[in-house]
Amino acid sequence: MLMLGYIILIIAILILSYALIILFLTLISIRRGKFYFPNLIKPGLIVVEGLLRSIWRALRLDDKELISFTIRLRNQMNHDKFCAVPMNKRAIFLPQCLRSAKCPADLTTEGLVCRRCMRCGIGSVIDQLENDGRMVFIIPGSTFIKRMIKEYHPRAIVGVGCLLEVKEGLEMADSIDMIAMGVVTSKDGCVETTMEWEKLLEVVELVPGDPLTASSLAP
Ligand code: SF4
Repeated sequence: MLMLGYIILIIAILILSYALIILFLTLISIRRGKFYFPNLIKPGLIVVEGLLRSIWRALRLDDKELISFTIRLRNQMNHDKFCAVPMNKRAIFLPQCLRSAKCPADLTTEGLVCRRCMRCGIGSVIDQLENDGRMVFIIPGSTFIKRMIKEYHPRAIVGVGCLLEVKEGLEMADSIDMIAMGVVTSKDGCVETTMEWEKLLEVVELVPGDPLTASSLAP
């Protein structure tokens, strides 16, 4: 019984030490704007996420900063593979909250079909997003993403959303071995959100050799 207690204690100490190492690497990466040991941090952020968040909060650090870092890290790690995917094998998912409250588009089984009425930013950018055969979906929920992936077999996706949506979307993509990049909207909410379209275009148009600049790292 005593032995079992020791084993549990040792495991707990090991997990805590691992979480502290990940925390330290995450903090210096954020502060210096550079990713240190990304291959170690990425699984660490998944395995000890709950514990890491508790320590993060106990240190009174901003939760958003950790989520934002996770997104930037995943984008950075997917960058080279994403650049290598042909344009016509990329799918872009826009959340329907970006449209105008007076949007006349109809909801179909593949999301909203934009009528280019120009009441919102989607109208002026959608043709450029669709250039070179890229697929664009304006969706009311994340369930559409998996369905469209099954239907159209893109080899890489770009997901747009608020911080939490993008984080969860990138995790989902990882779980199904899909190359994904996340771009965060500039205004949160459920209606008439906004985003920096240049940032999205910069990401969707990435080709081999292009760097992932600070402006295209979300957010
Ligand atoms: S531009 Fe498209 S998405 Fe935006 S409001 Fe008009 S129809 Fe809707």
